[in-house]
Amino acid sequence: MTEDMVPVHPDERMNFRCGSENTCFNACCRDLNQTLTPYDILRLKRHLKMSSQEFIRTYTSLHHGPESGLPILTFKSNPETGHACPFVTARGCSVYEDRPASCRMYPLARAVSRSRDTGQINEFFARIEEEHCKGACSISKKTVREWLDEQNVETHNIQNDKLMQLIHLKNTMLPGRLDGAQSDIFYLALYDLDEFRTRIFDAGLIADLDIPAGFLEQVKANDEALLDFGIQWIKYMLFGIELSLGCQNGA
Ligand code: SF4
Ligand code: SF4
Repeated sequence: MTEDMVPVHPDERMNFRCGSENTCFNACCRDLNQTLTPYDILRLKRHLKMSSQEFIRTYTSLHHGPESGLPILTFKSNPETGHACPFVTARGCSVYEDRPASCRMYPLARAVSRSRDTGQINEFFARIEEEHCKGACSISKKTVREWLDEQNVETHNIQNDKLMQLIHLKNTMLPGRLDGAQSDIFYLALYDLDEFRTRIFDAGLIADLDIPAGFLEQVKANDEALLDFGIQWIKYMLFGIELSLGCQNGA
């Protein structure tokens, strides 16, 4: 499989159409080596009405960044299906409403930079050109920006940008490979959300922290609020950054 990346501007027209009429239908969901972000996992496990532990055990493989030691989850590879995504069917994606960010973006890739002065995030896009994808043969009047709006990827991007900030902080304040305990803190608070919730509310994980009851109620009831708190808890545990106990974004 050959692949090229061509930079594109958000206002440029994007000739692309994906659908079951294409001879390549579902080709992009095979031969996968796909990384899942914490928010991808949150959405997928909720869609499937599974706990995070059950989802991770059933559908993912855990790796660690060789230099960073950060936990990385990918879809479990299955040679019997040609390494196809576990959710692809003859009719397309069976988890379409909650598919991961990279599936929503394809055939685009997104990179971001953050201004040191203002904190503003700038986005850059590139088109991934792969032989198997025939969607580019279609003419469209839509711009890149309009196409992205249709994919409903904004919420994923906002959540994934929080992860990017956390990794930037890790690389700055804790360069090199995390030890096992540090890596476990990342894993628990980012990926294994239901276990994180259980440890908070049934095992006294944060009993020594002075956290208002109203804030805890949000964290208990809302996965997005729990993930936001998880990011804060990692910053507190590993970098000594004070918790900010205002309203959680996801609640
Ligand atoms: S989640 Fe859906 S869109 Fe993404 S690879 Fe799997 S089947 Fe394809
Ligand atoms: S290979 Fe490209 S055009 Fe074909 S189904 Fe996948 S994204 Fe759509």
